[in-house]
Formats: sequence, structure tokens, C-alpha cells
Amino acid sequence: MHYQLGLIGYPIQHSLSPWIHERFLTNTNLSGAYRIMEIHPHEDFSEQVKRIRQSKINGFNVTVPYKQKIIPYLDQIDENARLMGAVNTVVNKNGVWTGYNTDGIGYVRSLRSRFSSLNEKAMKVLLIGAGGAARGIYYALIQADFLHIDITNRTLTSAKEIKALKDSNVYTSIFSLDEIEERLHIYDMIIQTTSIGMKPNENQSIIHLDHIKKGSIVSDIIYQPLQTEFLKQGEKMGAKLHYGHTMLLYQAQAAFELWTNMNPAMEDMDKELIKKLRGDE
Ligand code: NAP
Repeated sequence: MHYQLGLIGYPIQHSLSPWIHERFLTNTNLSGAYRIMEIHPHEDFSEQVKRIRQSKINGFNVTVPYKQKIIPYLDQIDENARLMGAVNTVVNKNGVWTGYNTDGIGYVRSLRSRFSSLNEKAMKVLLIGAGGAARGIYYALIQADFLHIDITNRTLTSAKEIKALKDSNVYTSIFSLDEIEERLHIYDMIIQTTSIGMKPNENQSIIHLDHIKKGSIVSDIIYQPLQTEFLKQGEKMGAKLHYGHTMLLYQAQAAFELWTNMNPAMEDMDKELIKKLRGDE
């Protein structure tokens, strides 16, 4: 079988996904190709999706700005993706398109690959941000047995919507960005999921980390730049760092498994991806 895979989104010409998935194909000894299928916002989305349907594609990733827009074009949607209200992976099985979301599971896998022992049930976690990625991560953390996950965000109504995803065992409070800095010392892990600090605004950080707990984990899902200002502050305070590029690899791994039923080894991809991202800095 020759796997035909790809990515829709805009702009995606510099996406790292072709590199990642072609490495996975090689690592699993599968034949196939992963291509960029950029859809300009001025193009007719329905028409473009129809063209993809007519092709022999086995599956594709979906990125900004189409993670919600693709949903009406699917035949089925996985329960996780339905709750997220966003799809980043589509699997085509005999003409039936099913939508999934691997962002949350990718985040948790990347966390577990970095920290072999986490005391999920006892850890107090702070999630900064309440966008699409935060939603997926919050839900995946709950599924991974984390019991205390607070949320802070610029827009509090979005944080409340995310909190509504929780079950009764989970404890979540919502705080404004203004009040959270003074409370940081209670958290064992702080996860930054907003777009603040992303290139070209790499000198920005959503909050200051002066009051974090000693030995806590500081995590940022942004991977451009590789070391965000948020992570730099965490490093200065002696935190254990968790980098965004690892989530990128593991969400891709979860998508590849859905398409091929194969579990691709990462080998040295982490180091190689770091080199690629440093090259861009
Ligand atoms: P999104 O749905 O647009 O959410 C954006 C988040 O950033 C919201 O919480 C938003 O707050 C906040 N925000 C944006 N501008 C802000 C500002 N000026 N001040 C304060 N808060 C602001 O985006 P997303 O899909 O969740 O993605 C967020 C980031 O994660 C992006 O940088 C993306 O590249 C990265 N990401 C990385 C991976 C990975 O694999 N490593 C995967 C997915 C996403 P409001 O709710 O107040 O607007």
C-alpha cells in the first residue's frame, strides 16, 4: 500500500509536518507521501474539500484556520474531537471520513516522555489560555488522571466553557491574568498555551514567573521560538522545562497511528527538530 497523506490549512508552506510524517513513513518501512494542500481563505473551501474527496487520500491533518470548518464535511467525528469542537486529523477508510483531535493526547504523551514519573493525582496544574489547544490539553489531562487543574485566561468566559468539560472528580478554579502571578507558588506544573511569545513577538510573556514553586514544571506549547521568553523565565527560576516542539512530534505520532495502525519510533527526531527550529531562529 502507498499511503497518500497531507495537510490542509493556511498558511502552511513552512509547515514541519511533511518532514515529520515522511520520517515516520521511513521509520515504519511504509511507502507513501505527505503533501501540503494549502487552501487560501479566498478559495471556495467546499470545492477544495470535494477535490480532496475525489483523490485517493488515506488521511490528512487539518490546521488553522480550518479545524472547525472541516467538521460539516466529515461522515463521523470521534467523541474527543466532538467535545473539542475541533479536528486536526481526518482518516479516510473506504470513503468514510472520520475526524479526530490528537493535540491533547500528543501533549500528554510528550509530557510523559519528558518526565517518567509524575504524581498526576497530587499535582496542582495551572493552564494558561483557553483556546483550542488549551481545550484539548485540559480534557487530555483529565483523562490522564490529573485532578487539580486551574485555568487563567484573558477572556474568562472561554475558561468557564473549558471548565464545563470536567467531571465531578476534578477540581478547577478560574483566575484572571492579573491575580494569578501572586498564586503561582501553589502549582507543580504551569502550562502556557496562549499565542503570546510566538514569533515575531518572542520577547513577550503572558505572565511573570517570579513567584513559582521551587522544582515545578514550566511548559510552553509554542515551538517557534524553541525557547520562549516564558521558558527562559522558568529556567531562571530553576524550573524543569517542557518544550512545545515535543507536543508537535507526539500529536503527529498519534495522527500517524490513526492512519496506518503503526507506532512510529521517534529515534533522534527530537534532536533533529531542535536543529531545524534553531536554524530558523
Ligand atoms: P487559539 O484557539 O486562537 O487561542 C489563543 C489563546 O491565546 C487564547 O487563550 C487567547 O485568549 C490567547 N491570546 C491571544 N492573544 C492574546 C493577547 N493579546 N493577550 C492575552 N491572551 C491572548 O489558538 P490555539 O490553537 O489554542 O493555539 C495557541 C498557541 O498554541 C499557538 O501559538 C499555537 O501555535 C500553539 N500550538 C502548538 C501546538 C504544538 O503542537 N506544540 C499545537 C497547537 C497549538 P482569549 O481567549 O482571551 O482570546
